[in-house]
Amino acid sequence: MTTHAIPKAAAFGQPKTGFRIPYLPVGSVLGPAEVEAVTDVATSGRTLSAGPWRERFESDFRDHVGAPHALSVTSGTVALELAIHLLDLRPGDEVVVTPQTYQASAQPLLQYPDVRVRFCDVDRDTLNMDPACLQTLLGERTRAVILVHYGGLPAPMREITAMARARGAVVIEDAAHALGSVYHGRRPGSLADIGCFSFHTSKNITTLGEGGMLTFFDDAYRTRVERLRGNEVDADYVPRAERLVGADEEVPGGLYPGDSLTHDCVTLRRPGTNATLSEAASAVGVVQLRSLEAMVERRRAIAARLREVLEKFGDVVAFPEESPGVRQSHHLFTFFVRRPGVLDRNRLLRELTDRGVQVPVRYFPLHLMPEWRARGHRRGECPVAERLWFTEQVNLPCHPGLSDEQVELLCSLLFESVRATLRRS
Ligand SMILES: *Cc1c(COP(=O)(O)O)cnc(C)c1O
Repeated sequence: MTTHAIPKAAAFGQPKTGFRIPYLPVGSVLGPAEVEAVTDVATSGRTLSAGPWRERFESDFRDHVGAPHALSVTSGTVALELAIHLLDLRPGDEVVVTPQTYQASAQPLLQYPDVRVRFCDVDRDTLNMDPACLQTLLGERTRAVILVHYGGLPAPMREITAMARARGAVVIEDAAHALGSVYHGRRPGSLADIGCFSFHTSKNITTLGEGGMLTFFDDAYRTRVERLRGNEVDADYVPRAERLVGADEEVPGGLYPGDSLTHDCVTLRRPGTNATLSEAASAVGVVQLRSLEAMVERRRAIAARLREVLEKFGDVVAFPEESPGVRQSHHLFTFFVRRPGVLDRNRLLRELTDRGVQVPVRYFPLHLMPEWRARGHRRGECPVAERLWFTEQVNLPCHPGLSDEQVELLCSLLFESVRATLRRS
């Protein structure tokens, strides 16, 4: 077995932010193997658009996830858009979504003003969709459930898929955080009907900064996704030039011979959009996927160090825990302040920020965003998600872009910040 080194973040220049410990990797997160792959593509004399690298990346990804189909696109957002498109939603349909996620999980639903979106509250211990709440929201009209594996901790898929199946609803996993996670011997992206992944710079692997993937089981989805994402020649769509001209129509100068007209017709008859992942991006994806395990281990090691520091403060804090058979990728490191009277969360965020640690709280409850409020959503709709975001949740930087020195610095700054907050709370 070959071992793959973790690409050194900032190998090509030091990160530049105002923070000593940036929340996300800054600058290049690619190593020499990725650079070599790009050079390979650039000098191969083959296409730079879709070609053998994309095929290879998709087949490696399919094998990794364990789903029969994997089709790449240009971002996680596009993956979700296409997944939602596949639902063929009609007026009156309902879709259940978690509010505790990046906005792209639900945003495509804004295109369907007559579809009712129901935000499902989260489990206070994990930030994942709460099956008990889901049960109350599922009904005759539920067409789909869209969930996220928050921070890479797999959601309770056995419960969720059983409930959804009983209603005939499609389950979409937003697995953007969960590449490298494990759920009872299987991988997120193969746990329901459709999986959506992101390869943005910040994610567990990246394809040159942007990219995405759909994984799914239904063969019929394959043709549809291929047509939606691509501007390649699609055999079913090749119209014969003659067919575009009625038998009784007069063509000035007559039809000119050869393929040329047919080809023009084909390229003009794209059924979807163009979301083709380029060869260079795909080649980087192939290399990154090989380093996935090492990069996830690095995330987990950083998380373990942070947890060690926080456990010194006992039951003032709590962590999203892995249940038996479950492994989280630690796309995020999250903890909860469980005794707000003893440790004030907002004060802690201030202390951390003052010491140069960047601590955004991931994620602002979606139903309270202006675009969702405009559709009638309100405070109180998901009380747990709201309480956690406003008073309990903390996310710390946790990514392979941090050097050992930065991790140790983060640990001391964290310890000092909690101590300072305890004193003043
Ligand atoms: C990053 C992310 C997305 C969107 O992916 P992009 O590739 O940035 O478009 C969707 N959902 C979640 C949960 C994400 O973290």
